[in-house]
Amino acid sequence: MRLRFATIASSSGGNCVYIGTENTNILIDAGLSGKRVEDGLAQLELTGKDIDAIFVTHEHSDHADGIGILSRRYDIPVYATEGTWDNMPSKVGEIRPRNRRTVYADENCIFNDLCIHPFEIPHDAAEPVGYSIIGEKHKITVATDMGHITETVKENIKGSSVLLLESNHDVDMLKKGPYSYTLKQRILSDTGHLSNNVAGSFLSRIADSRLKYVFLGHLSKENNTPRLAFDTVKDIVSESGAEIGGDFDMWVAAPYGVKRSIEL
Ligand SMILES: [Zn+2]
Ligand SMILES: [Zn+2]
Repeated sequence: MRLRFATIASSSGGNCVYIGTENTNILIDAGLSGKRVEDGLAQLELTGKDIDAIFVTHEHSDHADGIGILSRRYDIPVYATEGTWDNMPSKVGEIRPRNRRTVYADENCIFNDLCIHPFEIPHDAAEPVGYSIIGEKHKITVATDMGHITETVKENIKGSSVLLLESNHDVDMLKKGPYSYTLKQRILSDTGHLSNNVAGSFLSRIADSRLKYVFLGHLSKENNTPRLAFDTVKDIVSESGAEIGGDFDMWVAAPYGVKRSIEL
């Protein structure tokens, strides 16, 4: 069984992750226009018709905006928690009742040849989840939009071969940047977003033998740069004795477009 992973979009402006096998193709989030998701899929030699399901992490528009249009256009089932369904932005529009499916944190959802495991994340949305996607031999985890790393998040990341981890902002850039005091406090809070520093120290502690590929994602356009995120995390990880390129490879996910796809 082949497990394939790619980010189609990853930033505070829009998120969409592709995961697939020979038989199944799913998206985690579609927080950008249907057209842009289709363009990303084309880079993977796929179309909307190939997508079997969309799993949504939470209702924020950078994760949910495109799910309605894609679900209606290609008759795709959409999976989300009850709290997420109750708070979907109006832009999502109608989704056919048969395509409205519910997932529950900590309950496996068996979908064709994949096992999808949603887990609770600390974020200021109604009922947000991260997802682990478990294939025959490998596990891929998508963990972004977290104010801090809880025991639950740690437990679920454990054993992953591929990890998409939030590295949202540089704390100094955020503090000195143009955002309002309230927004800065929101981002820095326990239910906001993960900084480069926190991502780095977490990675330096979890380097386990299974972890092969790390993507830093959900970078803020205003309060981070790809280079800064990469270097900050790399420095922290190196200080701990782990080695990027040795223990695991690491890249910054592109804000938009498929720059790299991983096959396991
Ligand atoms: Zn987000
Ligand atoms: Zn969010």
